[in-house]
Amino acid sequence: MAVGDLKIFETKSPEETRQLAQDMAREAKPGQVYALDGDLGGGKTVFSQGFAKGLSIEDRVNSPTFTILKTYEGGRLTLHHFDVYRIGDIDEMDEIGYEDCFYGNGVSLVEWAALIEELLPEDTIRIKLERDPLKGDDYRRITVS
Ligand code: ADP
Ligand code: MG
Repeated sequence: MAVGDLKIFETKSPEETRQLAQDMAREAKPGQVYALDGDLGGGKTVFSQGFAKGLSIEDRVNSPTFTILKTYEGGRLTLHHFDVYRIGDIDEMDEIGYEDCFYGNGVSLVEWAALIEELLPEDTIRIKLERDPLKGDDYRRITVS
């Protein structure tokens, strides 16, 4: 995707969001960082599950909320799944060794990435998952930029 490009997807079920993520994972390149933001319950973890599947990772991916980082091997690329929602201080990211993830050969997905905005590489792919109360519980607008 060229710089400045923006794509908007609309999904009507968790399965559709998983499928979208799965398709995106097939295009993923080593060292790519994906920043996931949007509402609580917006579907960041659901997206991460589909993404892992698209990398042919067989482990079940869930929210790593209490560990901040979980790494999955065995797929086409190593997946570093972050959930920084409960991060206290940005220095915790150093302790976890985020640089090896963001600048290594795997791909990184970061739930609640806005909380560590200053650490995100310039070419980070931004994914925002938003609900719309007018369009029902299962509707999500997913903006990729
Ligand atoms: P987050 O990680 O952003 O807090 P989760 O992925 O844990 O959110 O939860 C999303 C919830 O919303 C799940 O319970 C999922 O089943 C539900 N859901 C309903 N519709 C959708 C949709 N279109 N896309 C993703 N999740 C959806
Ligand atoms: Mg989550």
